[in-house]
Amino acid sequence: MGRKNREGRAKRRNVLLAQERRRRDVEKRAERDRNKLLARYEGQPPDGRVICQYGSHAETVFDDGSVRMSMLSPKVHRLFGVCVGDLVWTEPGATPEERIIVARAPRRTQVRRKRGEEDRTGHVIAANVDVMAITVALREPPLRTGAIDRYLVLASVLEIEPLLVLTKIDQAPKDDPGWDVLTPYRELGLKIVPTSAHSGDGMDDLRACLRDRVTVFAGHSGVGKSSICLALGLEGAPAAGEMSQAHGKVRGRHTTSIARLLELPKGGWVVDTPGVRAVGLVDLEESDLSVHFPEFSDFVEGCEYADCCHKDELNCGVRDAVDAGEIPRARYESYLRLLESLSDA
Ligand code: GDP
Repeated sequence: MGRKNREGRAKRRNVLLAQERRRRDVEKRAERDRNKLLARYEGQPPDGRVICQYGSHAETVFDDGSVRMSMLSPKVHRLFGVCVGDLVWTEPGATPEERIIVARAPRRTQVRRKRGEEDRTGHVIAANVDVMAITVALREPPLRTGAIDRYLVLASVLEIEPLLVLTKIDQAPKDDPGWDVLTPYRELGLKIVPTSAHSGDGMDDLRACLRDRVTVFAGHSGVGKSSICLALGLEGAPAAGEMSQAHGKVRGRHTTSIARLLELPKGGWVVDTPGVRAVGLVDLEESDLSVHFPEFSDFVEGCEYADCCHKDELNCGVRDAVDAGEIPRARYESYLRLLESLSDA
């Protein structure tokens, strides 16, 4: 019986190892095929940008400003996948209106969203995003710096530049003492733009920050994201899914919650997503969290343990710096809350 059990376990291990080897072979072959396909377009800039994606179709905008429904070639579908913000190479399709996406450029950045708690790596909802506009109001709803800290970590993980957009400054002007809670962020070098969608204050500054870049807005509901987008001139864009239905070509379950790229009148793009709030901190180990709090970096060498998580370890340089007032306590408390949420995941 014991021998049989041992043999059973060994057999299972071999099967799993063989499975893993096959999976790696398939991935290696796909990588080779992707590189081969991309080599064909070397030196030739992509001609399209995906503004909405539905299964094997994608609405694509071209340099002349035309928007056409494009079909992913089976190879692109298999090897790359395509999402909002992707830059693609296309060829003529069966009709003059149709294009075929024949290759997809490597992505500068990818915004991922978890499908559920079990999903560790998430799926990509937007590509090539340059800026995360973290949006907060001071009074209504009351500003919570914990939310800013969470989005800052997210932007740092995704390697997207953060920008802090203060809204509704007509309710709480720029010199309101309440804004003092933002001092640690100014000291971190975070760019802060005070705005009011109602009075128009600060909107030109915001436009200048977003010009020619791809931006995703992040922030809790009610902070004024939609109003800012309207004030930026993004009204009148078709709701997600409208265009695909109008064309009568694509139907299906993707049409209500998909992301869409909207063009700013003075150049640049905004990803209109059902919200990055649900993105969650994918791909992040507890021990890596402190890297995303740049003000900790000067003090980690004071930690006795190389793998110190700055929580309850003895002789922690970061905790000493918090006690000495050199790291803002609120930032440290956000760090602990995020650490906790990672260990729960
Ligand atoms: P969202 O949920 O983040 O998209 O927020 P909304 O844009 O829907 O705005 C939420 C509420 O704040 C609405 O009642 C808006 O009228 C109000 N609001 C938005 N922008 C401003 C502003 O600049 N000043 C003032 N006083 N209220 C604003």
